[in-house]
Amino acid sequence: MAIRVAIIGAGPAGFYTAEALTNLDADTEIDLIEYLPAAYGLIRAGVAPDHQTTKKIQKSYAKTALKPEIRYYGNVKVGREVSLDELREIYDAVVLAIGAPTDNPARLPGADKRGVYGSAAFVGWYNGHPDFRNLDPDLDTSTVAVIGVGNVAVDVARVLVKTHAEMASADLPDYADAAIQAAPITDVFMFGRRGPVDAKFTNVELREMGRLENSVPIVDPAQLPDEVGGNYEDRDLRVREKNLGTLKEFAIRKPEEKPKRVHFSFYASPVEILGGDRVEGLRLERTRVDAGRAVGTGEFFEISCGVVISAIGYRSEPIEGAPFDEKKGIVPNEEGRVTGGLYAVGWIKRGPTGTIATNKPDGKLAAKQILADCKGGKPGRASFEKLLDARGIRSVSFEEWQKIEAIEEAAATPPSPRKKFVTNEAMLAQLDSAETTREAG
Ligand code: NAP
Repeated sequence: MAIRVAIIGAGPAGFYTAEALTNLDADTEIDLIEYLPAAYGLIRAGVAPDHQTTKKIQKSYAKTALKPEIRYYGNVKVGREVSLDELREIYDAVVLAIGAPTDNPARLPGADKRGVYGSAAFVGWYNGHPDFRNLDPDLDTSTVAVIGVGNVAVDVARVLVKTHAEMASADLPDYADAAIQAAPITDVFMFGRRGPVDAKFTNVELREMGRLENSVPIVDPAQLPDEVGGNYEDRDLRVREKNLGTLKEFAIRKPEEKPKRVHFSFYASPVEILGGDRVEGLRLERTRVDAGRAVGTGEFFEISCGVVISAIGYRSEPIEGAPFDEKKGIVPNEEGRVTGGLYAVGWIKRGPTGTIATNKPDGKLAAKQILADCKGGKPGRASFEKLLDARGIRSVSFEEWQKIEAIEEAAATPPSPRKKFVTNEAMLAQLDSAETTREAG
């Protein structure tokens, strides 16, 4: 008897789970349900627009989606149009692959001022995510402060200082490219509350900051230890050593080398965003690191800046019908098993850490668990489609999504790979009407 599975979320975790289910020696019917018409989740709207090599993985996701056992239902909002309870009633197994779409809040006085943005919103904006395309950040400033020293902070800093030519092979929407290139930004400060060896960025991403056309990385040599020190596992130690080596190379660069600078500033914990209605500065406390934690020293300093972008990690949102651990920001689970027939994979299972490939074992494990736990027998797709019809929900098939992708690709100016549609309406219009106008990205 076929095991009928619904996977909610068509990002990396969802696709790896679908793929793993098709590799089982079992009769499966897999429905991949996504709230946007667009597939690929963070590959499309999270991975930086100038990191197209990373985005190539979506080709293998497309192959998965076209397997006969799998059907894609884009533009279906689980939790709003269809409930999780309804899906659990219809399917033998339901897999939550809904990621971590919101920002960890910067709980700082002044965080409500104009000019303060969370990285989920800011990255979504420059990636043309329909939910964030109207963010319209006010970038009329010479100086931006980015809180955090993870890979997202590096992405944000880099996208803000790259030249138009450096972004030519990116898929940045025109509105974001225009706003960034018009901004008078000369200095971006990245603040780490701990030291350089505690930074979360990876070395490839860090090194790239030393090779930018118009921007030079600046590091205070006094903040760099001679050696990494501490007890780390081999792999972890190597990453930290590489990062320290790169930061040492940056420390001899000169601010006047290029018109723009990205400052890597450590041992600095933000305490208040300053200004009136709009951001005018950031107040920080100097820290020392004690047993791996940042401890305030009581010494404070301020920088003037017109924009603050908080890149301090992401957060999952609760979904009605599933338990939620507010503290950890995940759906509580036992190695992915949530409760009878409900599973979690990716960031909603583990929290927002790791690379794209980290989601692969999650998918494999969930597939194995589903095979072990489920006998099959529920109606699955047939009932789901009836539900969609009864509610007048216009879902998008994978073939339709590929049609939208082909239009985006045809509209691009090479070497940019695509000119993204940035609203759901514009995407759907390509499918539903011959006389449509394309909303420029
Ligand atoms: P992250 O790697 O967890 O980094 C978050 C940063 O914010 C850390 O520096 C952290 O410092 C800091 N932070 C957290 N809370 C803070 C607070 N209250 N005040 C000040 N600083 C605070 O998160 P991310 O950069 O959002 O990345 C998420 C995941 O996506 C990561 O696994 C990342 O590697 C991955 N990613 C990868 C790429 C890539 O491979 N190119 C690109 C983008 C994202 P502490 O360490 O002190 O907590």
